[in-house]
Amino acid sequence: MVTEQLRRREISDPRVLAAFATIPRDRFVPASLVERAYEDGPLPIGAGQTISQPFVVAITMQALGLVGHEHVLEIGTGSGYAAAILGMLAHDVDSVERIDDLAAAAEATLAELEIRNVRVHRGDGTLGWPPGAPYDAIAVAAGAPAPPPALLAQLALGGRLVVPTGSADWQRLIRITRRSEVDYSEEDLGEVRFVPLVGAQGWPVPSSR
Ligand code: SAH
Repeated sequence: MVTEQLRRREISDPRVLAAFATIPRDRFVPASLVERAYEDGPLPIGAGQTISQPFVVAITMQALGLVGHEHVLEIGTGSGYAAAILGMLAHDVDSVERIDDLAAAAEATLAELEIRNVRVHRGDGTLGWPPGAPYDAIAVAAGAPAPPPALLAQLALGGRLVVPTGSADWQRLIRITRRSEVDYSEEDLGEVRFVPLVGAQGWPVPSSR
């Protein structure tokens, strides 16, 4: 069970554990992988992308420190799983995905589960989602070469941005808190491995697409 994998490690926020116990991960993986939906690892979701390891999603969620009233931005909707978890933890969620087919599938799954406070948008999430800014919390589900300036700018005062930052293969998961108009503080949450964040303020877009 996903919550057992989380409780044994450093996930202690009861709201985060409850969200993982409630959202059915099997609904967000391809039909051929349903038996593996509760394994402790990422799984392919098509278009060369993955649904993240539950533990890594949980670390991100816990680090965002959500209590329920927050307006949240997620970059990299993928399957929609993390967006659904965010929807339980916060007031409402804007989630941005650059691959149309994934955005459409995620929207369909969220609708089937009657999750109504998550909006999926198509676009380059390295630029954030300006119509919804500022955000109390921003979660990036793909690895960036550096924290995108647009996301730093769209954080509310006191807001938290969790972003994997580093090379295309390995990253450190970083939490950035906006302390004032111009001051940000940064904490390292450990080593992680995400698919690349590609876009204007990320890695170059692969030319094959
Ligand atoms: N949160 C997802 C994990 C998806 S993997 C889940 O729970 O399933 C990361 C996703 O980020 C991929 O779907 C990829 O297409 C997307 N992505 C990469 N760069 C992006 C960008 N610039 N804007 C929006 N989405 C992006």
